[in-house]
Amino acid sequence: MYDKDFFARYRPPASLLDDKVILVTGAGDGIGKTTALTFANYGATVILLGRTLQKLEAVYDQIERAGQPQPAIFPMNLEGATEHDYQAMYNSINEEFGRLDGLLHNAAELGPRTPLAHYPLSDWEKLVRVNLTAPFLMTQALLPLLNNATDASIVFTGSSVGLRGRAYWGAYAVTKAGAENLMQTLADELADTTHIRVNSINPGGTRTRMRASAYPAEDPETVKPAEAIMAHYLFLMGGDSAGVSGKQFDAQPK
Ligand code: NAP
Repeated sequence: MYDKDFFARYRPPASLLDDKVILVTGAGDGIGKTTALTFANYGATVILLGRTLQKLEAVYDQIERAGQPQPAIFPMNLEGATEHDYQAMYNSINEEFGRLDGLLHNAAELGPRTPLAHYPLSDWEKLVRVNLTAPFLMTQALLPLLNNATDASIVFTGSSVGLRGRAYWGAYAVTKAGAENLMQTLADELADTTHIRVNSINPGGTRTRMRASAYPAEDPETVKPAEAIMAHYLFLMGGDSAGVSGKQFDAQPK
């Protein structure tokens, strides 16, 4: 049912995300930035999480200038974040909003494109931390706030190399496969006891800094901008996807 045609035709109402509080990681750049701006445009109060304050402030200003709901900024480097930091995050969101309607795990690092035989341990550990441990710990800490919402949605970000490993993609591919499994495991655990749905999106090739660094010889103009893949993100964050859980979505199916 939720095929290519469905998303090509999907036109959510302007009020789709009214009164929803949604946290986006990696909201300062690339797909995360476009997603945060899009969610705000559809009425959401967006919590902008990222590691570069100036980038988050620029997104904040853009949302404010557009007269959309006032966002919040949450600077955090996911590489070094501890359980204590996630607890502080819970406390701060709880104090300000008392609940969380949406959580988009978007931030990720690419790491080196190197054969596993030479893959540096330091990069491996960094990618596991940012791409896999951070979404796990953040979800764990924020689950009580997601439970406080009537209709909460968690979205993980996958990749085609996480669905089928590929030479030289190293820890990026492995952590994306892990994120996919994290989504499935969590969706299964929450299915009978909560109203929280859990899904993943593989954005497909999208014109961002990460894509340019993975494919330096590619002409960026041949790759879709993030604005072109927003239907999937809106659908999964809005009420139209109520009851949809444990599913993997391809934003640019072949
Ligand atoms: P991007 O342009 O590199 O943006 C990544 C964002 O994540 C940036 O805002 C970055 O912050 C943030 N980030 C990275 N490491 C972080 C850390 N340690 N702590 C906090 N924030 C951190 O990447 P993108 O292309 O938009 O990718 C977004 C998601 O889509 C990722 O999960 C990626 O794996 C996935 N994806 C992308 C493509 C594609 O073609 N673009 C394809 C498949 C999957 P700074 O700006 O401060 O560095």
